[in-house]
Amino acid sequence: MAYSYLDHNAGTGLSESVLEAMMPYLRQQQGNPSSSHRFGRFGKSAMETARQQVADLVNVDPRQVIFTSGGTESNNQVFSGLRERFRDGEILVNPTEHPAVLEPAYRLQTHGFTVLKLPVNDQGVVAVEAAQAMMNDRTRLVSVMLANNETGSLQPVETLAALCNQWQIPMHTDAVQAVGKIPVDFRQLGVKLMSLSAHKMGGPKGVGALIVNRSLVWPALILGGGQQDDHRSGTENVAAIVGFGAAAEHARQTLEQSARHCRQLRDALEASLKALPGATIFAEQAERLPNTVFFALQGYDSDSLLMALDRQGFSVSSGSACGTGRQTPSHVLKAMGVDDLTALGAVRVSVSADNTLDEIERLADALAREVNRFSHIMNR
Ligand code: PLP
Repeated sequence: MAYSYLDHNAGTGLSESVLEAMMPYLRQQQGNPSSSHRFGRFGKSAMETARQQVADLVNVDPRQVIFTSGGTESNNQVFSGLRERFRDGEILVNPTEHPAVLEPAYRLQTHGFTVLKLPVNDQGVVAVEAAQAMMNDRTRLVSVMLANNETGSLQPVETLAALCNQWQIPMHTDAVQAVGKIPVDFRQLGVKLMSLSAHKMGGPKGVGALIVNRSLVWPALILGGGQQDDHRSGTENVAAIVGFGAAAEHARQTLEQSARHCRQLRDALEASLKALPGATIFAEQAERLPNTVFFALQGYDSDSLLMALDRQGFSVSSGSACGTGRQTPSHVLKAMGVDDLTALGAVRVSVSADNTLDEIERLADALAREVNRFSHIMNR
């Protein structure tokens, strides 16, 4: 049976060119990039090339790139840094953020900060005027993601950053899902902090970056030997960083064509979904990532649909967190005002440039078969 991986927002595979770039640094493990002998220099110069490649992808100076262990660490550094800089104040967050933003933000509530949720509309998009009205001289940070991992909806980050800059409030954006899928220009956005992750864009897991505007000195989260100019201590994972750089370079060169291809697949899937009775596409009216469809079929809970699709060779994902085996509706959909029953049926399909129209057509057929089967059972 042909197997289709359609869960690229959870994690992409390593592309061949990325693996090839990493191989010499996986083979050659002796040496530490901080050592001044040739083995150290071998890793160091590869890492600096990668820093430039990541910087080029988001239009920053390479000195602004701090390599981390991934998007989660980058987000944590944003909030831990805030705690070092201020003793109290207000933090404005978008309620549809990934837990890697929400949890470190909420942690600061036990350290004198107040976390306020920005209002979002039924498409999951932050209401700019309401956000503006919430900004004041006690606001220490605004954190709004560029693209949502579940719905793919894009946020008005550039507009919000302009407002933040008027108040001199640093704005952070979690760009983990956007980078590599749509053009992202740090300077143009006007944000002060941005989080990235390699494994959402064809790079390896366990590596990411925090981009910091040069007007800010942002305190380190991980202290130790002072690597990366004291911004993040710890011996760097050279092979992973090289892979991140190669993925960034590949994304920069192929972004336009890959976005076009993904959009074609997404639109084809959405057209098929709309032909099914009782299908809901979430955030359909919002400007969205070209690769993501988040939907529910009436009468199906996401687990049953995921399993039915898995049996037929399709790897997709649910939008709900399922920590204890008990399903809970996605906090993203709840913030959008979706009722719990519909939210518990949510399924996400996220494609990459490697997927084909044939796979999407087969998925659409499988979904139509499921809906048919379900209506037969209901009509018995
Ligand atoms: N932010 C967003 C929007 C994500 O989708 C994810 C991962 O799913 C993360 C942060 C966490 O990134 P990482 O897996 O690199 O820690």
